[in-house]
Amino acid sequence: MNRPDRRQSRPRLPETVPDALSRVEGLRRQVYFWALGLGSVILVATWVLQTRRPTPDPYVLYGHPVLLLQCLWAVVWLLQRRSLLVAERVVFIVNSVAVLAQLFLSLLTRDNQVLGLASGAYWMLVAVSILSYLMFSTRQALWLSAAFYGLGVVLPWAALVSRGEGLGAQPELARVQLTCGAILVLLYSLAWYRERFLVERGQRLTLEQLANTDPLTQLPNRRALYPVIERLLEEGGRGTVGCLILFDLDHFKRINDTHGHNAGDEVLIRGGGLIRAALRDTDHLGRWGGEEFLITLPGVSASQGQDIAERLRTRLAAHTFPGVGQVTASFGVAPCLPGDDLPRWTARADAALYRAKDEGRNRVVLQTDRSSPEEQQAPLVGTH
Ligand code: GH3
Ligand code: MG
Ligand code: MG
Repeated sequence: MNRPDRRQSRPRLPETVPDALSRVEGLRRQVYFWALGLGSVILVATWVLQTRRPTPDPYVLYGHPVLLLQCLWAVVWLLQRRSLLVAERVVFIVNSVAVLAQLFLSLLTRDNQVLGLASGAYWMLVAVSILSYLMFSTRQALWLSAAFYGLGVVLPWAALVSRGEGLGAQPELARVQLTCGAILVLLYSLAWYRERFLVERGQRLTLEQLANTDPLTQLPNRRALYPVIERLLEEGGRGTVGCLILFDLDHFKRINDTHGHNAGDEVLIRGGGLIRAALRDTDHLGRWGGEEFLITLPGVSASQGQDIAERLRTRLAAHTFPGVGQVTASFGVAPCLPGDDLPRWTARADAALYRAKDEGRNRVVLQTDRSSPEEQQAPLVGTH
């Protein structure tokens, strides 16, 4: 008898917050790594080009090697998987100082170098702004880039005016400044949109999660199972096999009465976890109601479904629940039949479960026909 593929038998565990944070940190490291590599290439290329000029720009000649050292230091630091925060801060501070140095140098330098120095500063200003949107809140990053941009506009013009040049003397400088300003506005809009989008998406996901999760067991609830069953029915309509297992803990009321409601809750949580861990990623387990659970098994035939239910039954019966002891359950197995719909199929699983209870509990019953009166009436609610 073919059993379903066990290679995927690990349960799908939700990503924990620390997992998600370390994934985001890993992504950031990668982005910085490539950005620093690209920055190093640009620094070397511009330095080589400057050295070939008759009067090399001193800022490029002496400043770029310092920036290159900083890039290489940061790459090694990141490769050693050391603190990302330290690398970010150092790169941010060094580059901010470089932007300011270029702008102040434009105050001192000869006329024809004002444009070159200022243009270099604007591209670094964009890089520093991107970094500040990654490191700080959107509002803080906006203030920082606005302050840098303000200096970037005022200082080069102050240099030109102090030398007696009119405001219309350097149209190229005005063009570069306007382009840089437009890029900074675009950056802010993106950061604002991203922040809003993330907040709204987070709220929507939280609401969806709450509406579809059973608060006690953290398993999908009945509402979440309906679309899963509908999908299996669609696949069944195309000729693919599929099975439902409905199981109900035996004499659960006694557990509550003997050990208390909290102990009963604990059995529901641990029992659900135990069964979930024994299923494939593609199977779904949800709390159907009370102490009753439903499993959907795609691509599983009637006899395979019966085997799986038997395995789950023995696994549960062999487990010792702390303070409670052994707990058993009765299982109803129903394969998808031609012409099934959700009420009919779940009613057949319910009828099988009812028979398992009737025949003495702690057993599996397979129902492969539509003989039961329950199914003919096809009720939607199947709790015991
Ligand atoms: P059977 O073998 O026929 O299923 O007997 P049973 O005692 O399990 O079934 P019955 O329907 O008589 O009792 C089910 C009990 O499950 C009654 C209800 O208080 C309890 N129950 C339902 N939901 C919860 C819950 O969330 N926590 C706890 N502790 N008990 C629950
Ligand atoms: Mg019960
Ligand atoms: Mg019940």
